[in-house]
Amino acid sequence: MPHPATGRPFPSPVPPGSGWPGDPADATTPVATTPAQVRRLARDAELADVDARVSVCRACPRLVRWREDVATTKLASFAGEPYWGRPIPGFGSERPAVLVVGLAPAANGANRTGRVFTGDRSGDWLFASMHRVGLATQAGSVHAADGLELPETRLVATVRCAPPLNKPTPEERDTCAPWLDREVTLVADSVRVVVALGSFGWEACLRTWRRLGRDVPVPKPRFGHGAEAWLGGSPGAPARGVVLLGSYHPSQQNTFTGRLTEAMLDEVLGRAAALARMPG
Ligand code: SF4
Repeated sequence: MPHPATGRPFPSPVPPGSGWPGDPADATTPVATTPAQVRRLARDAELADVDARVSVCRACPRLVRWREDVATTKLASFAGEPYWGRPIPGFGSERPAVLVVGLAPAANGANRTGRVFTGDRSGDWLFASMHRVGLATQAGSVHAADGLELPETRLVATVRCAPPLNKPTPEERDTCAPWLDREVTLVADSVRVVVALGSFGWEACLRTWRRLGRDVPVPKPRFGHGAEAWLGGSPGAPARGVVLLGSYHPSQQNTFTGRLTEAMLDEVLGRAAALARMPG
């Protein structure tokens, strides 16, 4: 079946190195199949290696089964399209001032398009807001070849595979954590603001910062929409900390019910953009 943008035929799930737009891996990329291998392959990896190795990871059997099942059975409305069916690497700037941390890819969104928050309603909300506040070059995010760029921002999922019911287990979260830890380490020099989408992303940020030996306030800052906390830098450079901002996740559960409005999301992302651009 052809990719909707390029017209090239792809099997579903997509094998690494087959030319899918933005595929960071090829047939030689090492594949982690256990938690220990995730830790080993994440350690000392450069950002391009993290992207590539994440995208072929198979360390969580339940999630590998689920993401590939969805990519094979497909939603009826996408029956004629190939599905990526692999883990989703980070997307955006390699030297971001803003890091946005979500929960996990959507089964028929990122798991289909191969790009985080791309091809579903949550992504429509998020990228439209990022575009309004100047963090994205376009409001739409349809497929991996649509030209969208995030010049100052990097967008990552805490857990990189689509989980059933959007609920990864604690074990899956912990197995995937070395990828996030390494990615945060690699971009920490430039990041000034971290936006956590939902309490899962908020907790993941706090855990990551603690694991990396950086200061996290005690008692632990509580998640809420518009919540702010200061997370310190590394022991060698404590002043190089970041502001952590909380936002309700732009899931349909929140946007359909009015728990999260466009104005609310713009407020948090606009604050992130303003903080990122402050001199000093
Ligand atoms: Fe690998 Fe993370 Fe996917 Fe588990 S959730 S298989 S660790 S990429």
